[in-house]
Amino acid sequence: MSNHPLIDQFHFPVLQELGISKNEKLIIAGPCAVENLEQMTQIAEMLKHHHISFLRAGSFKPRTSPYDFQGLEKEALEILKYIKDTYQLKIVSEIPSIQYLDDFADAVDIFQIGARNMQNFSLLKDLSTTNKPLLLKRGFGNTLEEWLCAAEYLLLGGNQNVILCERGIRTFENATRSTLDLGSVALIKNTYQIPVIVDPSHASGRSDIVTPLSLASLEAGADGLIIEVHPNPNIALSDRTQALTFEQFQTLYSKITTKYNTKE
Ligand code: PEP
Ligand code: MN
Repeated sequence: MSNHPLIDQFHFPVLQELGISKNEKLIIAGPCAVENLEQMTQIAEMLKHHHISFLRAGSFKPRTSPYDFQGLEKEALEILKYIKDTYQLKIVSEIPSIQYLDDFADAVDIFQIGARNMQNFSLLKDLSTTNKPLLLKRGFGNTLEEWLCAAEYLLLGGNQNVILCERGIRTFENATRSTLDLGSVALIKNTYQIPVIVDPSHASGRSDIVTPLSLASLEAGADGLIIEVHPNPNIALSDRTQALTFEQFQTLYSKITTKYNTKE
């Protein structure tokens, strides 16, 4: 018997419910972390200008070093709520623990489950009983089968609004932060109905190759992208080497809209 019978039969229209039509790609963009209101206002205005509806920004940041910027936490959620209401954007942010459910419920439309939490089974079980769309990042040390089993936990608890996100895995190659596994993306698309998007920013750790990885991901069949962009990457408080400038993002987005999402 399969370890993930619900994934095998997955047929839920999560993307359509988020307003994404069949031949459209889900594009999510924004900074690694909420830093202040001005930064978030600049990003929101840029996204609105391009008719992009999904903004990403971390509130609680899972950092390797405890001395690095940990996110503005609840203050970030207040800023996100303001941005959501003012600009009518859908907000994507990582929820680190069920203890913050009420704080997240108001401000965040799609709960991100971070790579480091992909096998936090108690968090998965807790989130499986909510009705929020869940973006499940692949753990950087996890196989495709383990990733699908993690998604199965979410479905088993009753949440049918699950989207997978490939964000690179750890290999011997260290020229890039992680190694983007597009083979898994193509395989998921050939085998299952569950949507899968790609995060080329964390996969590469370098802004100079985010554009080719984004375009390759869509060609491999990915249902969308989540991309880090910052008004001034040089002074970003986290992940500054991988954030696109507005100009770089706009160039990439216009390439995306010549082939996909052509209504822009
Ligand atoms: C992020 O999206 O900012 C993030 C921390 O991603 P990951 O969990 O994939 O490392
Ligand atoms: Mn980041």
